[in-house]
Amino acid sequence: FDSSMNEEALERLNLLDDLRQAVAAGQLLLHYQPQVDLRSGALIGVEALIRWQHPQWGLVPPLRFIPAAEESRLIVPIGEWVIQQACQQAMAWQRAGVRVPQVAVNVSAIQLQYGNIEQQVLQALASSGLTEAMLELEITESALIEDHDGAQATLMALRARGVRVAMDDFGTGYSSLAYLRRFPLDKLKIDGMFVRSLDSDQDAQAVVTAIITLAQALRLDITAEGVETAEQLVMLRALGCGDVQGFLISRPMPGHEVAAYLDRTNMSMA
Ligand code: C2E
Ligand code: MG
Ligand code: MG
Repeated sequence: FDSSMNEEALERLNLLDDLRQAVAAGQLLLHYQPQVDLRSGALIGVEALIRWQHPQWGLVPPLRFIPAAEESRLIVPIGEWVIQQACQQAMAWQRAGVRVPQVAVNVSAIQLQYGNIEQQVLQALASSGLTEAMLELEITESALIEDHDGAQATLMALRARGVRVAMDDFGTGYSSLAYLRRFPLDKLKIDGMFVRSLDSDQDAQAVVTAIITLAQALRLDITAEGVETAEQLVMLRALGCGDVQGFLISRPMPGHEVAAYLDRTNMSMA
């Protein structure tokens, strides 16, 4: 137990203490990243990505606090806030005539296990007035594989009501093909790791080709994440990929900037 371990433990405690206050203190916020149709360039939706505006540390990215939030189960109230906030924002865009067809929210396996996601989602939809089909839940493979307390059943019930379900980071987990048969999904998201190696790595090309073929055969939508270069975009188009998301299209942005983004790309208003 040296001093650096001590420091680390203290940092973690401080982080959790601060994070516990963060929701009530209004320090959490969502940025939204566009997802566009690769052929038409039309916006098909945005993904809500959490950030923490910490009074001392500034804007903290999710990978710095989501793992601790999951371990401590603080992700349950935080996740509930995310779902509510995203639904309200989507409804606000709709009311303002800003055409955002869909909002995607990340839901971790811990939320599915310990949170009452079904009730949280239905309540967020009811209180915002958003329709079911405008909300997409992004889950990871671990959520389906470690099926504690019927995460699959919960997701199926929501999907039966019209909420969409996407498999995030596809290809990085167990990629069990068994759940793809059993579990009704709407979309696969190709992890950015594969997209980034597309130009240089033949194996990455083979993996991306296989995922797209699989999605097409199962009649699933497909989004490639982490698209950063025009070369990657050209390759994804040639491979028949449906939608793209990445810094090349746009970085995640605050909700109030989305209308201007759509104006710039010329397809905002009805
Ligand atoms: P994710 O859901 O796979 O989100 C995609 C991540 O890739 C985001 O990072 C996004 O900003 C980043 N990204 C997008 N385009 C590019 C690109 O072209 N290049 C590169 N290098 N990166 C790109 P972010 O916002 O830091 O989020 C990281 C992860 O944190 C997310 O991965 C997701 O797993 C988790 N996360 C974010 N928000 C939430 C949330 O509200 N709830 C939960 N449970 N997890 C969240
Ligand atoms: Mg995601
Ligand atoms: Mg992802």
